[in-house]
Amino acid sequence: MTVTAILSALAEEQNGLLEQLHQPRPVSHGGRDFWLGELQGHRVVLGLSRIGKVAAATTATTLITSLGVSRIVFTGVAGGIGAGVRVGDVVVATEFVQHDLDASPIFPRFEVPLYGKTCFACDAVLTEKLFDVSRAALTGMAPAGAQVHRGLIASGDRFVSSATESSHLQQSLHHAGLEVLAVEMEGAAVAQVCFDFRIPFAAVRTISDRADDQAHADFPKFIAEVASGYAHAIIGKLFGAL
Ligand code: SAH
Repeated sequence: MTVTAILSALAEEQNGLLEQLHQPRPVSHGGRDFWLGELQGHRVVLGLSRIGKVAAATTATTLITSLGVSRIVFTGVAGGIGAGVRVGDVVVATEFVQHDLDASPIFPRFEVPLYGKTCFACDAVLTEKLFDVSRAALTGMAPAGAQVHRGLIASGDRFVSSATESSHLQQSLHHAGLEVLAVEMEGAAVAQVCFDFRIPFAAVRTISDRADDQAHADFPKFIAEVASGYAHAIIGKLFGAL
C-alpha cells in the first residue's frame, strides 16, 4: 500500500495536519519524531524535516529507508523572489535548484557535481494535483487576490533577508538561465534524495515574506497566523483528490 510522507520544516506548519490525523502513532528514527496514521483513508507519515538542506536530506532518507514511504509531499513557507510573488500567495514547485551550490570552475555554477544536473524535477502528476487543490483551497480563505504560481524554487542554507541579497540571487540564477519564484532552505535536498531513490516528490510553499529587509518581521507573523491553516486546507484537499 502507498504510504505518503508529509514533511514540514516547522511545527506550526504541521499542527493543522496533526489534528486531522486518524489513529496517530508516534515513532522515532534517526533523531526525528514522526507520526504514523491515516488521512482520508490514506496511510501517511507526518514529519518535521528541521531547517536546512542536510537536516531535510537525512529526514527524507529516513522516511524512505526506515519507514518505507513511497512518496513525499513537502508543505512549508518560503520567501517570494519572482516578480508578482507576494506574501499570502502559494508556489507549487515544478523543480528545485540549490542556489548555494558552486563547484565552479570545475562544474558550472549551480550544477550538482556528478549528477550532470542543476535542477531536480518534481513528479509531474502529483505536482499537477497539488496545483489544482492549492487553487481550490485558496478560494474563500486567502486574502483577496492571492495567487497560486508554479515553477522553480531555490533552496540554500541561508534565510534570505535583504532586498540586495534577494535581487543578487535572482540575477545570478537568471544568468544561468533559471527564473526562480521563491527561496527556502530544504526542498532541493529532498528533491535530490527522492531522485536517488526514484520516489515521487511534490512541494507546496506559501509565501511568508519577500526575502527582503522586512523578511525577519513578516516571517514570524505569517507563521503564527496563517501557515498552519494553509497546510491543513491544501493537504486535506490533496488527499481527497488522490
Ligand atoms: N526563526 C525561525 C527560523 C526559520 S528559518 C524559527 O523560529 O525557527 C525559515 C524557514 O522558512 C525555513 O524552513 C525556510 O525553508 C523557510 N523560509 C521562509 N522564508 C525564507 C527566506 N526568506 N529565506 C530562506 N528560507 C525561508
